[in-house]
Amino acid sequence: MSTLQPGDRVLVTGGSGYIASHIIEQLLRGGFEVRATVRNPDDDAKTSHLRAFEGADRLELVAADLMKKGDFHEPVAGCKAVVHAASSVRLNAKDPQRDIVDVAVEGTRNVFEAIDAAQGIHTVVVTSSIAAVIDDAKDPSYRFDEDDWNESATVHTAPYPLSKAMAERMAWTRAEQGDYRVVTLNPGLVLGPVFTKGHIRSSPNVLHDLLSGKFPLAPRFRFSVVDVRDVAKAHLEALLRPGAQGRHIISNRNVSMRELADILRAEHPSRPVPRFQMPNFAMYAVALFDKRLSWDFLRRNLDVERRLDNTKSKQALGIEYRPVDQTILDTARSFVDAGLLSLLSAVRGWPRSWE
Ligand code: NAP
Repeated sequence: MSTLQPGDRVLVTGGSGYIASHIIEQLLRGGFEVRATVRNPDDDAKTSHLRAFEGADRLELVAADLMKKGDFHEPVAGCKAVVHAASSVRLNAKDPQRDIVDVAVEGTRNVFEAIDAAQGIHTVVVTSSIAAVIDDAKDPSYRFDEDDWNESATVHTAPYPLSKAMAERMAWTRAEQGDYRVVTLNPGLVLGPVFTKGHIRSSPNVLHDLLSGKFPLAPRFRFSVVDVRDVAKAHLEALLRPGAQGRHIISNRNVSMRELADILRAEHPSRPVPRFQMPNFAMYAVALFDKRLSWDFLRRNLDVERRLDNTKSKQALGIEYRPVDQTILDTARSFVDAGLLSLLSAVRGWPRSWE
């Protein structure tokens, strides 16, 4: 079975993204040549951090759009492995079928069509999600593992989870026909250092909101959290270990919004981090004005803890999860380093307009 060697070229899709940026940083550190697709290589706000990485002389940025058929044929040529991380990472949209589901599913089809047409690709790692695993119609006592699929998401109730489940199924269908090894990774809520302002549009947003006074009270949500550096390492291990096969839940442990707030407040006492939990009825009132939240979603998620089995990630990929406190505090520090948050502007309910 072919294995990846330092000096081999790896294609990473969605290279400007939060998780992909960490994957690229670790690949460059490992001595690989990296070709990353971005929608616009000339967009400095999204790409300058990549060009500043150590080893960036081995990084090439090329343009490709998931929705444009044929866009990935040239980028995959000459690569030995592909990490497919690009997707439409948003909970809702004006047209969720077009803007979330189609981007994920047709994008994955386009990437695999390019892989099938190319010569010499032996490994494909796809960034899926626990959204493709957890079916929130199941009883909260249920413990999810890699055999589970989200079967209840619909484009109306949960377009992002639907997009991840459908895109991952598409990857597995293509894998049956392809002459390469496919590994899918299913991370939980990814937190950890950001490189640019754009990265707080993704999951680190929850910590930025807590630090900048957006939540006067902490909603009673629980998340299965994982550090972005551990997620990136899981991608490298999946590429490098020829025995890695199938799906992998990549998640450290469950953390409530209140615990996230407590960790942040202890380190940043002058920030307007909420002290108390929001009563659930107030969340239902918020949902009347926030299109990302539906009552159905709140009913299935408030005060609910989903149990995940991460044994396979530790045994098959050798992942040792770093402590959640370190993940949270390193994320906050990266906000300050990136100029996204001043530790001095700390009046409750009065975040600076540029934060
Ligand atoms: P992100 O920062 O939003 O990255 C997503 C990337 O996909 C961006 O680079 C984006 O490019 C690209 N993209 C979106 N639409 C595209 C299109 N039509 N054509 C080409 N590229 C497109 O999100 P992330 O958190 O790093 O997520 C990366 C992957 O991890 C996704 O597959 C996501 O589903 C998965 N994941 C994320 C989490 C999490 O908690 N963050 C958890 C589990 C799984 P632009 O910058 O041009 O928009």
